[in-house]
Amino acid sequence: MGDNSAIEWTDATWNPITGCTKVSPGCKNCYAERLALRLRAMGNPRYRAGFKMTLHRDQLDLPLRWRQPKRVFVNSMSDLFHEAVPESFIRDVFEVMISAHWHTFQVLTKRAERVRRLATLLSWPSNVWQGVSVETSRYISRIKYLLDVPASVRFLSLEPLLGPLPDLPLDGIDWVIVGGESGPKSRPVNTEWVRDIRDQCKGAGVPFFFKQWGGRSPKAGGRTLDGRLWDELPAARQQALPFVGNVTTTASAIVASPFRLGRLSAGGSHRT
Ligand code: SF4
Repeated sequence: MGDNSAIEWTDATWNPITGCTKVSPGCKNCYAERLALRLRAMGNPRYRAGFKMTLHRDQLDLPLRWRQPKRVFVNSMSDLFHEAVPESFIRDVFEVMISAHWHTFQVLTKRAERVRRLATLLSWPSNVWQGVSVETSRYISRIKYLLDVPASVRFLSLEPLLGPLPDLPLDGIDWVIVGGESGPKSRPVNTEWVRDIRDQCKGAGVPFFFKQWGGRSPKAGGRTLDGRLWDELPAARQQALPFVGNVTTTASAIVASPFRLGRLSAGGSHRT
């Protein structure tokens, strides 16, 4: 649970919580569940409980030990806003994100109602990006809840994309990620669904990141759309980003820098 991630839109994962329960069709072939069960079978002590929700208090300070700035995906193996995660623990996670100001934290949830409910009780520094997952138009209301969250960057993860999303409410959204499902039971994504989302993003001026077509493995179908990669990143609303030692990061530098592609091979779809 740490440094280096195979997920194309992040640098590292941080899992102070592991395990989750399913809430919607996008969860059906949850990558985190498959990986957790595999890690338990391999005897990994962090996954003794398999995919049962577990707090790992000793992992809370991990980002504070990473000195170089990273994009950190928070809870790639769970959902921070799962109903069983105590409010006090969520606050502790936010305290770490506030203290580790040199990193950018990417928090993604399917529990959009809970993040909105708790939003006023939490502090939202500019280095915390909040996203929601939406897999079909039935779950578009998650976006409405996200729009009430005062995060500096609000983003959508439309993965695994399981249907068309013709009317995305993109006003107030800073970034859209799209991906097809991967894994042995992956459900196919339709090219027209992806094109339509890209075109909506272009029309609204929202950065669009196409992660993968999916298939048996994350890389099986490649990740080009209409002959090119789509690796756009959000322009953080707050221009001044953290300074660490002699490393300065600015919003424009983040926009300009390419994502670290092609690292590792083991990673699948992200979850949540
Ligand atoms: S981690 Fe995400 S995809 Fe997996 S069960 Fe939880 S909410 Fe669903």
